[in-house]
Amino acid sequence: MSRFFSYRYETLVPYTPGEQPKIMNVTKLNTNENPFPPSEKALRFAREHIRPLNLYPEIQCIDVRERLAELHGIDADNIVLGNGSDELLNFAFMAFCDDRKQVAFPNISYGFYPVYADLNHIPALEIPLRKDFSIAPEDYYDLGRTVFIANPNAPTGMALTRAQVEGIVKRNRDSVVVVDEAYVDFGGESCIPLIRDYENLLVIQTFSKSRSLAGGRLGFAAGDKALIADMNTIKYSVNPYNINSMTLALGLGVLLDEETTRANCFTIMENRAYTADALEKLGFTVLPSASNFLFARSDKIGGGELYRSLKARGVLIRHFDRDGIRDWNRITVGTREQMDILLKNIRELLEETP
Ligand code: PMP
Repeated sequence: MSRFFSYRYETLVPYTPGEQPKIMNVTKLNTNENPFPPSEKALRFAREHIRPLNLYPEIQCIDVRERLAELHGIDADNIVLGNGSDELLNFAFMAFCDDRKQVAFPNISYGFYPVYADLNHIPALEIPLRKDFSIAPEDYYDLGRTVFIANPNAPTGMALTRAQVEGIVKRNRDSVVVVDEAYVDFGGESCIPLIRDYENLLVIQTFSKSRSLAGGRLGFAAGDKALIADMNTIKYSVNPYNINSMTLALGLGVLLDEETTRANCFTIMENRAYTADALEKLGFTVLPSASNFLFARSDKIGGGELYRSLKARGVLIRHFDRDGIRDWNRITVGTREQMDILLKNIRELLEETP
């Protein structure tokens, strides 16, 4: 730390992203990316429609917002775009939390929530998961705090039903409930249809997972027009041109090829079932996943050891060295070939383990 760093951030512990190796001869199952690139149709559209790069991007992002609005049966004014959903999560912390309206989220969830709370000096209530790693909706009733819930949750992969989330929204009428649906397209129920009925519901989704655009950095938030206006106040105070022209063109290209998105999600869900089944046969406990990753533990090999041994063999998975989940690993579901490489290496490791 330099002697110039603001005292406001002296104790800030930044988010630790998963490793992003430069050399790609690894089986990369550590950051929940989509194993399939955007379709040729989406790429061709982007190449043909990109705005000249000597100009600033189209600031309203209207084409992408209108296409999202059409897909979800809402208005473009119900939508704001972000540089990845991470940026929108931070905007939501800035817009809807402070020392008077503090925040609550599950104690085991997306690691960025506590970082954004700290960054913005917002006292956070971290609510424990149940013993089976599920979120108990009742724990979030009448809190008098802004609520952040990842649904499906990460790193567990477990989902609440739309009715369960609606219960939380109903019992927090005077607080915003932010539902982070990064993984919803892999088997969850989106709460976007509820935004018409609840002025306090903000749903955030990403193009990084089901839409194969992690490198493009694009996410969106959907909510009541007044909530979106607040998000825009923050966006226009931080970085009005937050979505670059290349990403805008790619985002629209991807949204015009829903068929490929759906087919890829279907394949990933099939591969998830295949992998969960194989891991269970190898003695693993695997949580029921509605996402593009599996959260699993073995009695024979510790979480940290499995992570390190697989890494040495060129297979990257994610381990969180944290109380409560130290024995577990989060494994991204990739192609069938990637899953077979993972399973082969795990089988060999288990054979070597006394
Ligand atoms: N929410 C959750 C639960 C996530 O796991 C991630 C991915 N790390 C994000 C949001 C952020 O995704 P992105 O910024 O790529 O849209």
